[in-house]
Amino acid sequence: MTGKGHHAVGIGAALMSYAALIGRGYEEPMALIAAWAVLPGATAPDWLEISRGGGKKRRPLITHRTLTHWLPLWIGVFLWTYHQIGISAHYGWFIAWGFSVGALVHLLVDVPNPLGIPIMTPWHRVSLGWWRSGEMEALIITVFAIGGILSVLSAHGMLHPDLWVSWIDSLSLRVETIWAQFS
Ligand SMILES: [Zn+2]
Repeated sequence: MTGKGHHAVGIGAALMSYAALIGRGYEEPMALIAAWAVLPGATAPDWLEISRGGGKKRRPLITHRTLTHWLPLWIGVFLWTYHQIGISAHYGWFIAWGFSVGALVHLLVDVPNPLGIPIMTPWHRVSLGWWRSGEMEALIITVFAIGGILSVLSAHGMLHPDLWVSWIDSLSLRVETIWAQFS
């Protein structure tokens, strides 16, 4: 996936992370800073490779898709920081947790293309080979965006079936009043 694609996917993932924390009863400010941290995290596996030189001479300090794309590393950070949130609820842990969520989402969208990501060791990559990097980007971004919006709505109780019913009721009432004016 391209850098821009990772950014866009990160926005949807940030919304979902926010919703996940709200749903678990964490305070709004903490959920918000965690969500913000998802954004740099979503591109982190690429920029942590620290590229030197520009254009075609561009060479990363860490070989592309090795250590910074290593799945166990980010799962470890994710579990450890979530555990720490439960203990101290310090905002630093929320930032670190959000960052790791972003990185995991980055790996998730990198694994379908031929280069894949390292899973067992940092140097042995696994690929699903579903599509090439850059393909399916619009679809993946859309899925994450919709998922993000729906999860935020549901975290604030706006997807509750009763609410749907009352929304439809008030909408149909409005339509009826407008209709009545014309007939
Ligand atoms: Zn990557």
